[in-house]
Amino acid sequence: MSTFDNATADRPIGLTAPSGIDRAAHHRLDEAWLAAAWSHPTTRVFVVSGGQALIDDTPDGGTGLVMTPSFEAPLTETHRYFLGTDEKGVRYFALQKDSLPGRMDQSARPAGLREAGMLLGPRDAALMAHAVALENWQRLHRFCSRCGERTVIAAAGHIRRCQACGAEHYPRTDPAVIMLVTDDQDRALLGRQVHWPEGRFSTLAGFVEPGESIEQAVAREVFEEAGITVAEVEYVASQPWPFPSSLMLGFMARAGTSEIEVDGEEIEEARWFSREELTAAFESGEVLPPFGLSIAARLIELWYGKPLPRPRGAAA
Ligand SMILES: [Zn+2]
Repeated sequence: MSTFDNATADRPIGLTAPSGIDRAAHHRLDEAWLAAAWSHPTTRVFVVSGGQALIDDTPDGGTGLVMTPSFEAPLTETHRYFLGTDEKGVRYFALQKDSLPGRMDQSARPAGLREAGMLLGPRDAALMAHAVALENWQRLHRFCSRCGERTVIAAAGHIRRCQACGAEHYPRTDPAVIMLVTDDQDRALLGRQVHWPEGRFSTLAGFVEPGESIEQAVAREVFEEAGITVAEVEYVASQPWPFPSSLMLGFMARAGTSEIEVDGEEIEEARWFSREELTAAFESGEVLPPFGLSIAARLIELWYGKPLPRPRGAAA
């Protein structure tokens, strides 16, 4: 579909750019390798706590995770996640702790992934997304879903094992679909969720249900939320969305019908926008530009044909 062949097609989506990190998953069960990697002088460690990590300004004017050599990191191996290695052979670990370390200097500050994801480079954003997702999952899976007994961390943070029944539990990722629907006049369908602030409109989205294909999920969600029948679905890109454990699968969809009927429960209002109407709505403040990190912004841009205005107050 020619809609995507435009100036915005190559713009990176937050959290999806190549990170340069090899997760090196084959080392996760090798305790001797992990111990050697941990104590290697080039190894870098950052602390994750409650979905936050410390970020700081970098000499080149960017923002990076605050990392330390492992010998400066506290020795709590039970909450140590091995995240991977980079092209230079540097190994990265996250330490899960009850709180972040005290500030190291004036500019280091705690940040969640929604903020940090927009500021960090691809390597650090990927490392933090991985660590935050593991931390979330670890916190919610301390008990075995098969027998109810306690589980313990294994595989450098990537398995929880039940010592009573032997079951192994793996981090879960919940597939969700997010789609920009256009009609035969090439207008885009944007909706407002009930709990969103006034003026916020975005793409429709929802979780894939058991036994359903992602294409079926797109059609079902669009019909449930806006009463629109989808005739055609095209996959565009995906984005990890560890809030707490989703994978966003992004689509462009073509509507077969145009009469909107919102469900009123999840979606309060949905409207068709032409490009001119959306531009005017941004300019008047009637519609707020979408959150920059989200794949929703990218999907809307693909249709809009140029970068969207930045949300007010967003980081430069
Ligand atoms: Zn068990």
